[in-house]
Amino acid sequence: MGSESGRESTDILIIGAGLAGAATAYHVRREAAGTAALFAHAPPRVVLLEKEHLPGMHSSGRNAAFVRELMDHASMQPLGTEGAKFLQRGELAEFRRCGLMLLGDGDVEAREHFPPARGKGLWRPTEGIVDVAALLQGYLTGQDVRVETEVKGWVRRGDGLRVATSRGEFTCRLLVNAAGPWAGQVGGLPLTPMKRHLVQTPPMPGIGADWPFVWHARDGLYFRPESGGLLLSPCDETPAAPGDYAEDPRALEDLAEKVERLQPDLGELSVLTSWVGQRTFAPDRGFVIGFDPRDPRVFHVAGLGGHGVTTSYAVGRLAAEMILRGTEPTGNPFSPARLVGPGS
Ligand SMILES: Cc1cc2nc3c(=O)[nH]c(=O)nc-3n(C[C@H](O)[C@H](O)[C@H](O)COP(=O)(O)OP(=O)(O)OC[C@H]3O[C@@H](n4cnc5c(N)ncnc54)[C@H](O)[C@@H]3O)c2cc1C
Repeated sequence: MGSESGRESTDILIIGAGLAGAATAYHVRREAAGTAALFAHAPPRVVLLEKEHLPGMHSSGRNAAFVRELMDHASMQPLGTEGAKFLQRGELAEFRRCGLMLLGDGDVEAREHFPPARGKGLWRPTEGIVDVAALLQGYLTGQDVRVETEVKGWVRRGDGLRVATSRGEFTCRLLVNAAGPWAGQVGGLPLTPMKRHLVQTPPMPGIGADWPFVWHARDGLYFRPESGGLLLSPCDETPAAPGDYAEDPRALEDLAEKVERLQPDLGELSVLTSWVGQRTFAPDRGFVIGFDPRDPRVFHVAGLGGHGVTTSYAVGRLAAEMILRGTEPTGNPFSPARLVGPGS
């Protein structure tokens, strides 16, 4: 960091220290050799600004920690595969292979892998659970993170930006919008945060610690063993402004109804704790990774939806490559231009 008449100056300023911002900063540091042409320093100076008192208080701290290689979109599949393969090696955070039983698809007898199941399923043996807190910490180790620092807005200044925050002004060459559920508001993008509930039960008899992640994809129910009980979701998707929300009793009733109908052998569940997180989507549900066509001093890493744990390593690697080269690859399927037009 430098200082310019009371203002701090840096090369790259990242808004948000969740998985998107943290993984981008991680890869910029690793891949920055030979970038002096674009930034004043090689490697460029990077500062992450986080409005909360700790990183990972929002989507990155409220998810199911499941590493699911299969993506919703073909364009995202290479990032899903790269991200999952990295996490499976367990280099930054512990990975526990448990497998995925996708019920309703496939031709495997589901009870072979999940005794209480009926019918057929698709079995994916390599999927598993990652320690997300350790992963985020791994990306952030050695980074310059400023907590309780909220970005309020910015103006152009020469070939950079002047950025107003709750703790004074910064100047930078490039501003990275990795604000998760707030990324639409912060970056002027049509992104929608969707609420989703997770429920943790107390320890229950009969739960197998070796059960897989079980997903009734068509009916919208998933669960996996956790701490002697189950971690479950009714797979709700309710659009809402970015923020913190109390649990909606209707979502918990919906979960109870689905468990009773689809997995009656689990018995009646009680709730130890539950919480609401937000998954943030572009209208086409594709990721948003690239320069803002309205001002190429702004770069977006957003709209990671329900895949941000699995893909974080690959998303950060791709974002860092574009940032350090100063361009997007031809035909970038994640380009923000598809959402806001080609710019002037
Ligand atoms: C219930 C649930 C279950 C999920 N399960 C999985 C799963 O099993 N597997 C998987 O791969 N993915 C899963 N996901 C998705 C994954 O959690 C997200 O895609 C990922 O965490 C998004 O990371 P992010 O960094 O974009 O957002 P966030 O983690 O929300 O980080 C954004 C950060 O920006 C900060 N910020 C916002 N505005 C400002 C500002 N103006 N100034 C400074 N800081 C700001 C916020 O405080 C926040 O810390 C799940 C998500 C949810 C909600």
